[in-house]
Amino acid sequence: MEQRKRVVIVGGGYAGVKALQTLAASNLCDIILIDQHPYHYLQTEAYELIANECSMSRVTIDLVALSLSYGEHVTFIKDTVREIDFENKCASGQNSCHPYDYLLLCTGSRTAFHSTIAGLREHSHGVKTLPSALSFKHQFEQRLYARMESEGGWCGEPFNVVIGGGGLSGVEIAAEMAYYIRVFHKDNTLTCEDIHIFLIIPHENVLEGMERYLIQKATRRLTQLGVKIINHSRITSVEEHTLILDNDDVLCFDFMIFTGGIIASTLTSTMTTAKNKKSQIIVDEYLRVPTYNGVFAAGDIAELRGVEGELLPPTAQSAEQSGTLAAQNILAMIENREMRCAKIRIEGMMVALGGNYAAISLFGVIRISGLLGYWVKRVIMRGYRYLLHRQCIKGMDKSSKTKHRCHTGF
Ligand SMILES: Cc1cc2nc3c(=O)[nH]c(=O)nc-3n(C[C@H](O)[C@H](O)[C@H](O)COP(=O)(O)OP(=O)(O)OC[C@H]3O[C@@H](n4cnc5c(N)ncnc54)[C@H](O)[C@@H]3O)c2cc1C
Repeated sequence: MEQRKRVVIVGGGYAGVKALQTLAASNLCDIILIDQHPYHYLQTEAYELIANECSMSRVTIDLVALSLSYGEHVTFIKDTVREIDFENKCASGQNSCHPYDYLLLCTGSRTAFHSTIAGLREHSHGVKTLPSALSFKHQFEQRLYARMESEGGWCGEPFNVVIGGGGLSGVEIAAEMAYYIRVFHKDNTLTCEDIHIFLIIPHENVLEGMERYLIQKATRRLTQLGVKIINHSRITSVEEHTLILDNDDVLCFDFMIFTGGIIASTLTSTMTTAKNKKSQIIVDEYLRVPTYNGVFAAGDIAELRGVEGELLPPTAQSAEQSGTLAAQNILAMIENREMRCAKIRIEGMMVALGGNYAAISLFGVIRISGLLGYWVKRVIMRGYRYLLHRQCIKGMDKSSKTKHRCHTGF
């Protein structure tokens, strides 16, 4: 009997988890899921974590329990893959090498702290990883506390929070923080209402490239919440508490978050295959990485295209679809079937805009905003987490029966 093929998935984010589910359902191969963390971080819910709307457990899925739930042919390994030996088909981790027949790269992307902006990396926070989101939340609260503690501190000087970048994550965080601060002020009448949020964007509008409806709703809501949008502006340099814009304006800040773009995971820097300006791998129409046999890439690490061949922005939605499609094509290769072209269809966009408010556009025809939009987004997002969480419970049951090691802390 032919030996089962070994498929290694590197990265247990939106793309990796979908690929895992597709491959596990086929029962055709042995699957090794490798991630540097034992959890899947739900980045799309990061704004709620930052604004204290939910706890850490709400934005994580335990990858150990999830993998266990699919039975003996799925293994989770906590490791950071540094390099891949494509010739000998092995993904090198910190201490060992993980052999594969097929490899799926899903290691996502990082915040692009552009080296051309002096001081950006040193003096601003990213939110693309759980430790960075937690560190930001912690430091932000400490600064708020220090202001509260110092008598008259609030009424003296303003407290400025700067967010660089007006894409989905920048807008969601700006809106949620503005809302949080509003609630904070209401609850703590001792404070002066002198906390400002600045959103610095290079274009005319926030959410550049998205539907007009979403842009208008987001702009209106941000303005209502008191967010000051500084458009047509680029940050040129950052120091500990000041930044300079390209028109030479100087802005003082207490806290800065940068969300102005992404760059593919560092793993791509070790690969000689063709990449775009964001270091994303240029995959073929089947999501294969050209030059390397049996290697696929999905999610933010790859340059993804939609049904019309258009370039897609990095989203959880495109990551999930590409993860599924790449896994289906791996199965097709295993079974000697024809592969499917990866045509990714963006069904809509949902933008959380602080508190119980969201703007949504689905299938090009449904447009909702306000409380209803918030509930639709919440149901979809929570539904994603709920299904994975239920699957994890099966894994925990199995682990207690078989006495497998299982992380339950997340
Ligand atoms: C604040 C914020 C809000 C967002 N809101 C939305 C939204 O509302 N809607 C939407 O569609 N998208 C949103 N996005 C974008 C979305 O989260 C990303 O596009 C999505 O996470 C990409 O999925 P992925 O699977 O490619 O990568 P990720 O989800 O980032 O997963 C990558 C995984 O790979 C692991 N990894 C990385 N390097 C290594 C390595 N060398 N070895 C082992 N493991 C490794 C990481 O630990 C991680 O688990 C948001 C992003 C942010 C930051």
